[in-house]
Amino acid sequence: MRCKGCGYSLFNHRGRTCPECGAPFAPADFEFRANAVEFCCPGCMQPYYGTDPQGLPEPRAFACVTCGASCELGTMVLRPAPGVREDETELHRVPWEDRSLPWRTRFLRTVSEAMVRPSRLGASIAGSREGGSARFLLVLATMASVPTALAVLGFIGFLALGAVPPGSAQFSRSLRAEVAPWALGCAMGVATAVAAVFACVLVVAGLATLVLRIAGTDAPWRRVWPTFAYTSAPLVVCAVPCLGPYCGIYVAGTWWLVAAGIALGTSCRASVGRAIAAVAIPAVIVLGLVLGGAVLFVVMPATAAVKAATAAGAAAATAGPAPADGANDEGDLDVGADASGDPDSEPMPEAGPDPQSEPPPDREVSP
Ligand SMILES: [Zn+2]
Ligand SMILES: [Zn+2]
Repeated sequence: MRCKGCGYSLFNHRGRTCPECGAPFAPADFEFRANAVEFCCPGCMQPYYGTDPQGLPEPRAFACVTCGASCELGTMVLRPAPGVREDETELHRVPWEDRSLPWRTRFLRTVSEAMVRPSRLGASIAGSREGGSARFLLVLATMASVPTALAVLGFIGFLALGAVPPGSAQFSRSLRAEVAPWALGCAMGVATAVAAVFACVLVVAGLATLVLRIAGTDAPWRRVWPTFAYTSAPLVVCAVPCLGPYCGIYVAGTWWLVAAGIALGTSCRASVGRAIAAVAIPAVIVLGLVLGGAVLFVVMPATAAVKAATAAGAAAATAGPAPADGANDEGDLDVGADASGDPDSEPMPEAGPDPQSEPPPDREVSP
């Protein structure tokens, strides 16, 4: 039980103001673990224990069984139960789920806890009775993608409107013609980025649940999902406009997986080995899917195009100047098999030396 203003320990005090900073407090402002705190009669220090879900004595006011003095929660002296460390008395909550705080405070505290103390965050998730992690992820993903979108929009706006006097008819025409489509594009970019974050967290958390259950760990979705959703907080580094999405994503991704693995240890009581497996296996699968997709849809077509261009260049180098008709379709990938392929359609004319001045001795001549 620490002062919410300055962090000073408030146990063993009869007053109801913080001795350090003077801020008022009440035991009812806190939540305690069952039987972790003694509530003592102010007259004789007879201890009583908290029995309600908040860890407070029920009823709140009664007559002391030893001295008969009136005991009220507001006047009782609180101290940790024997054998309980002071920092183990409170029932930790995920800061985001503490509705008594303004949302910015809840957000920032959750981000810092996820990044710096994921183990404590995991313990809070284990004891959490509320939800809200999806809303947290929504705020986080939007926050991470909007600055870049705004920076892009601002740059485009600067280019489009830089020389146009504001307020003129031409200004509003330019605004409609150039900036409005870009604004729409940026909004769609933000929506896509948010959807991609949700998809990624969903897939990784789903696979992690599967891995943990196969390994024999009790991994309910209501704990695994918040663990991965809250620990994705390092994504805030992507809020650095333009730079973030390119460099920050690697830092954020690695940080996320490490934090999630540590948090799983307390949220689902997963052993170190299982927590590592629950994070590493989904990460490898997702990375494999992304890389496989990149190879299939980007690298392979690009390689084929380069091969075709090289073959066309070689053909041009050995066959001499090509006829200037340019009949072939641009980007035709089968052109490499054809020695008389049109070199004008491929961007490789400078690949070989001039065939008329010096024929390449080592180049294979196609029939
Ligand atoms: Zn204080
Ligand atoms: Zn008493």
